[in-house]
Amino acid sequence: MQFRNIDGHEDLKSTLLQSVQRGRVSHAQLFHGPEGNGALLLAIAYAQYLACSNPSEIDSCGICPSCKQFNSFNYPDLHFVYPVAKTSKSSDKPRSLDFIQEWTQLVKEERYFSLFRWLEFVGIENKQAQISVYESTEVLNQLNLKSYSGGYKFMIIWMPERMNNSAANKLLKIIEEPPAKTLFLLVSENPDSLLQTITSRCQKTLIPKFRNASVENYLIENEGVKPQNAHVAAKLADGNMARAIDLAKRAEAYKGYAVHFSTWVRSCFKADTHQIYSWVEDVSRLEREKLKDFLHFCSSTLRESFDLNFIPAEQPNRVFHEIKFELEKFAPFVNLKNGRQLLELMDQASYDIGRNGNPKIILTDTSLKMARYLRLKN
Ligand SMILES: [Zn+2]
Repeated sequence: MQFRNIDGHEDLKSTLLQSVQRGRVSHAQLFHGPEGNGALLLAIAYAQYLACSNPSEIDSCGICPSCKQFNSFNYPDLHFVYPVAKTSKSSDKPRSLDFIQEWTQLVKEERYFSLFRWLEFVGIENKQAQISVYESTEVLNQLNLKSYSGGYKFMIIWMPERMNNSAANKLLKIIEEPPAKTLFLLVSENPDSLLQTITSRCQKTLIPKFRNASVENYLIENEGVKPQNAHVAAKLADGNMARAIDLAKRAEAYKGYAVHFSTWVRSCFKADTHQIYSWVEDVSRLEREKLKDFLHFCSSTLRESFDLNFIPAEQPNRVFHEIKFELEKFAPFVNLKNGRQLLELMDQASYDIGRNGNPKIILTDTSLKMARYLRLKN
């Protein structure tokens, strides 16, 4: 993974490169920022740069033996830790190493992915996934071995917020007194939930979300997404590359969502209970995850409509344009009086669905409230 393989983040890359060139490499670093920001890839590229035997000022060389090993994820002094749980194929004390094949496959093939995607990929339930104390023992064992390369030993810990307390305390001891030439790179989306004693020992680098243009460009160049779909996905994903890829791949689903959305707001606005109930009947059949995704879509659409009152769009929203629903005409119904309430309504519905609530009851309740809010005029 070279820096040039990672889209955007140009300023950040120069900062990282300069810190190496000035010999300022802190042995424990925390890359933190929102989901889908490319932080994991940057951590790998940073490690590769340090390991490269012929680096330039702007990147690793990509062809020296170390770079080649990095490219195939076989560099012997590169270790990964990530949340796992017991499955049919793991040992009784599940560790990252049990899943290393799947891990390298996902990083190589999908590059930008969320924790949700990782767990789905390996078939682990979200709430069970953690970094356990067995893992910290493993880390200690690996770091106590002699470095194969003679250079740094890299320990990239993805989602350290999933460490349980005993794991975190054990890791803390290693970070406090690390074996020589060891580099810890913690990649976190939620550093506030890490032990403060750990974060205080790390040099912190904020990895911001991507610019929409970088996301759009990536989708077109690397994922073969049609420009109009890439534009919509980038906008909805708001700088989250993992989400944008996911969205673009499901662009077709969005057309369906747009139809549901337009039917919903029309029947709510008319307060036509018969139509509302038949809509609820229809939409509550979606799988739970799809339903949450749909509500997220509604939330983004409501936000976009609200904004249209103040900033006219350069071009109409494609998805809605295709189904002949004009967001510009709908926009005035989402205003200062009800905008916040409508968005909170979507969040609440999505939360309740996620907590295994009954979709029919939740959607009916949400519709009746929406019918009331949509009639609030500026
Ligand atoms: Zn190299």
